[in-house]
Amino acid sequence: MIPVTSPAEGLADAVVITAECTADVFHRYGFALRAGRTKTAVVFQWHGKGAVQARRSVDLTLNCSLSCRPARAPHFSLPSVPVYKHLGTRTAVGAAMGPEFAFKESMLRDDLRRLRRRVLSNPGIPQHQRAKLAQACVLSRLLFHIGAWPGLSATLAGRFHTMIMKVYRCVIDRKEDDGYHISDERVIKDLGVMPPLVVLRLARVLLAVRVASRAPPFVSQLLCRAAAAPSSWLRALEVDLEIFGRACADDPALAHRPLDHWWSLFRAEPHACRRRFARAAASEAMSHVCVWARTRAEKELTEEHRCGECGSAFRSRQALAVHAYILHGRRSEVRRSLSTTFCPICLLEFHTRERAVKHLDSTAVCRANLLLMHPALDDECFRALESASADVIRELRAAGRSRSFASLPCVRLAGPLPLVMAPAGDPKGHPHGPGRKWHASS
Ligand SMILES: [Zn+2]
Ligand SMILES: [Zn+2]
Repeated sequence: MIPVTSPAEGLADAVVITAECTADVFHRYGFALRAGRTKTAVVFQWHGKGAVQARRSVDLTLNCSLSCRPARAPHFSLPSVPVYKHLGTRTAVGAAMGPEFAFKESMLRDDLRRLRRRVLSNPGIPQHQRAKLAQACVLSRLLFHIGAWPGLSATLAGRFHTMIMKVYRCVIDRKEDDGYHISDERVIKDLGVMPPLVVLRLARVLLAVRVASRAPPFVSQLLCRAAAAPSSWLRALEVDLEIFGRACADDPALAHRPLDHWWSLFRAEPHACRRRFARAAASEAMSHVCVWARTRAEKELTEEHRCGECGSAFRSRQALAVHAYILHGRRSEVRRSLSTTFCPICLLEFHTRERAVKHLDSTAVCRANLLLMHPALDDECFRALESASADVIRELRAAGRSRSFASLPCVRLAGPLPLVMAPAGDPKGHPHGPGRKWHASS
């Protein structure tokens, strides 16, 4: 893929020059550039001044085809396409996966319309046979080539999950005693199938094994040295391997290791790797909800939070905090160190102490630096602040507001930000993080 950028009116010419140069270079080394809608094509993304005019001229005057006359290579015409199909996957500009999903969803709709009533949901056919038929007639087509997909956003992962669950639910769908449909977890368990996102992860790892074992040595060397860009296929593979390693912690062969070690392992013993991953994907550990949960909320629902003092387990962090407060009289460490209504680390004024505490509890970088740089308050001062906070909370409750309500928006106080310890992770949208320019300023 070659990205070309230019002002709108000159973009078509810039693309033509790039294509001509590329064709000449190919020609010089004895190769030929094959132009075509599914071979070499151009995807335009128009923006800014003159974009409408330039698009019209490409679409109407040139009829979506750019004529290229390289100096040495034969002349050819380069088609302009709205969506490009590469390795069986449809991608739009910026590697957006929307077109691919739209295609797969429409394919699934057609398949289910044909097969749902007569085959997949037919009570006359035993359930295990219907499951096999769903695999053979619907899923094998639907899941074709998903191993080449890059990492999906939470929304797309959700769409993928829904698509596959639709097929599973055709085969098995019943209501619980309380009138609700059975949960996804139950469907997966009762059918004995892999969760949709595990299917995707397995496909990606198996493709990596195939690439490593069959590619010529120079491609393997390239892959060993390649650094995974965010939202690339390689990065997604890294995450998959990590998840396999974490979920199947009892299998030392799947333990976490750098990507280049994996490549050499894939190359040395492809069959063993394939078997090991397929077995791991079908194991009970991988079918646990926290492995395939699509959202943080879903993951949190299934996670256990243990009390450090008495060992009791809770379903949410909040339940654990309430338990620790009531039974062990524990106050949050942030409360012990904060005496102001603003955050002393990022200088955001929140107007109430409660709201500042909430900010500090949820922002790793501010919290860590506050605890590091600000000593705990003395007992008397702490008690006075807590009773004042309690009064404020009571008043807010009486007015039907939540405890962290403030009528004024938060503002940045004037003054230089203090020097802080490098934040762990990626604090997006935070004054100390990469999205700082979007943050509230006074
Ligand atoms: Zn406890
Ligand atoms: Zn802060």
